[in-house]
Amino acid sequence: MSTVLQPRGMPSEAGRPEVFRDALLREGVLLEGGTEGLYLRSAAFESVARGVEALMRNQMTGDGAEEMHPPPGMTTRALGRSGYMRSFPQLAGTVGCFCGDDAAHRRLVAKLDGEEDWTDQQATSEVSLIPAACYPTYAIIAARGPLPPEGHRVAIAAWCFRHEPSPDPCRMQMFRQCESVFYGSADGARAHRDLWLGRAQEMARMLDLPHAVEPANDPFFGRAGKLMARSQRELELKMELLIPVSDETRPTACASVNMHLDGMGQKWGIVASDGTVAHTACVGYGIERLSLALFRHHGAEPRDWPAAVRTALWS
Ligand code: ZN
Repeated sequence: MSTVLQPRGMPSEAGRPEVFRDALLREGVLLEGGTEGLYLRSAAFESVARGVEALMRNQMTGDGAEEMHPPPGMTTRALGRSGYMRSFPQLAGTVGCFCGDDAAHRRLVAKLDGEEDWTDQQATSEVSLIPAACYPTYAIIAARGPLPPEGHRVAIAAWCFRHEPSPDPCRMQMFRQCESVFYGSADGARAHRDLWLGRAQEMARMLDLPHAVEPANDPFFGRAGKLMARSQRELELKMELLIPVSDETRPTACASVNMHLDGMGQKWGIVASDGTVAHTACVGYGIERLSLALFRHHGAEPRDWPAAVRTALWS
C-alpha cells in the first residue's frame, strides 16, 4: 500500500495508523507515554490544542452559555447513574486507591519488593474518570429545579478517559473534549443540534480540513447494545464530523453532535419549564483529534501552516 502525503502534510497509510503515529513521535509532536494511547504533548501540539479550543469558544460567543471547569474526575456514583456502564463498560475507568491498614500495607510492600502485581491491594474509590465532558453537568442542572422557558446552555471542557489502547494516535486513552450542552425543550435541543452541525463544518472549513458529516456508529456493548446502535443510526441522533487523519480509508470522528431526546432528562430528573422531562443535546469537539488532523494535513511545523489556518487558531 502506498503512503499518502499531502503537499505539506505528514504521512499516513491505509490500514496502518502506526505510520502516522511514528511520524508524530519522530517529529517530536507527541512523546511516548509508555503504553498504547498515552502520550505527552509537545509545546507545538499544546499550542494547537489550545487554538482549537479557543476557536470553539469564539463560535459560542453570544450563546450565553454558563462555563463549568471540572477536575478530570467525577463521582463513581454518577458514572453508574449515567448509563455509561450499561452501554460502554469496556471503555470506563474508575480510580483505585489503597484503603488498607498496617497489615495490608505490609502485603502491598511485599508485592512491590517481589515485583508482583500489587494492584489487587487497592479498592475502587468514590472517584471515576470522565468518559465524556458533559457527564458531570447533568446532576448540577437537575438539582437547580425547573429550567427557564428558553432552556439553558453549559460550556465545558474536560479531560476524558476511554480504555481502548490502540496504535492509532487518534484513539488516545486520555484526551480533551470541549462541549456545548443544551437543556430544555425538544425544539430547543433540535435547534442546538442544527446550529452546531453548521458550526462544526464551518470550523473544518476555517481549518482547511477535508471533512464529511455522517451518522455515528458507536461501539455499544453486547446484544442489547446492537439495537441501541441501530436506533442511534436510524434516528440520526448522533452525527459525526469525519476527517481522514491516521487512515485515508477510515476517517476519524473529530467532532459529534448528539441528541439525547429525554434520555438524560429522565436519568437525572431534569425538568423543563412546563414541568415535562427536559430534552438535552450536546456537541463535542475532540481537541486532540482535531489537533492531529491539523498536523496530518498541514505538516509537523505549525509556523509553516497556511496564514488563514493560523489566524483561525490564534487570533
Ligand atoms: Zn456530551
